[in-house]
Amino acid sequence: MLEVQGLKKTFISGLVSKRSVKAVDGISFNIADGETFGLVGESGCGKTTVGRLVLRLIEPTEGKVIFNSIDVLKLNKKALRKLRPQMQIIFQDPESSLHPRMKIGDIIAEPLKLYNLVPKANREKKVLELIDMVGLQPEHVNRYPHELSGGQSQRVVLARVLALGPRFIVADEPTSSLDVSVQAQILSLLKKVQEEFHFSCLFISHDLNLISRMTSSMGVMYLGKIVEAGSTKELFEEARHPYTRALMSAIPIADPQTKRKKIVLEGEMPSPMNPPSGCRFHTRCSFKEKICEKAEPQLIDLGEGHRVACHLYAAEIKRLETKPAVLVEI
Ligand code: SF4
Repeated sequence: MLEVQGLKKTFISGLVSKRSVKAVDGISFNIADGETFGLVGESGCGKTTVGRLVLRLIEPTEGKVIFNSIDVLKLNKKALRKLRPQMQIIFQDPESSLHPRMKIGDIIAEPLKLYNLVPKANREKKVLELIDMVGLQPEHVNRYPHELSGGQSQRVVLARVLALGPRFIVADEPTSSLDVSVQAQILSLLKKVQEEFHFSCLFISHDLNLISRMTSSMGVMYLGKIVEAGSTKELFEEARHPYTRALMSAIPIADPQTKRKKIVLEGEMPSPMNPPSGCRFHTRCSFKEKICEKAEPQLIDLGEGHRVACHLYAAEIKRLETKPAVLVEI
């Protein structure tokens, strides 16, 4: 359904002395029909940029995005506009996605009109169907965005997106501006409508709890690169990369009897303007070896789609050669 290969984005800043930032540096992943793939990482790792690149809201520097056999990056403006209803995005802040002077009913009806999806005579009925589907009441159609709560606004955003009948949605931190109790409701709603509409989803979040709840496969990003990827279950049970392990160790445990050693990462994530040589994580990694500062580790497959970019595993796999990968415990 969606195939992303070697996606890169370099931003150039400064008028006189130009500086380049490799915000996304060779990201690849696939999302099957109806599946949700999660991208997780600290703020500034490039995950939001990936979501926008895939939809061509910003133009990639390099790479491929294949959506249902269509080479998205090769489409001209007209063809891209035609494809747009099928590839949609839900932003973090619902209020800023809604026109403040339009009534909710008109906001939801707008894409139906714009893409001529439903005849005028049936638009009102369709809007009411969508309103009901996202758990709002018919009277909400006559309200304005400022009269709604954050959760209600995100429901309107979802109704507007669903009006287009999308096959793929980027959900970029869709609940991070909402209260925890409302977050749970919106996530349940997203899952429910995904089952009904069977769209694929790229779910972007800094919160591993949400990733575990919403996704079946995931990638962990650090400074513009995926450092580990695989099924969500496998990564939660057997994370291999030292960065993933540190992130996992910081997840709060509800049961006070369960003990887990928290791995504290030293320092901040380095600036993407000047990323470290070799493995970009080496400045914070307590397992680093000499090679880590010099050579960049490539993603290697540990089996069943579990990929990791770390010299520890590359060396171990080389030693084991034909034997199955019994990997070093770190
Ligand atoms: Fe740490 Fe080296 Fe692995 Fe990077 S390659 S994560 S520095 S051990």
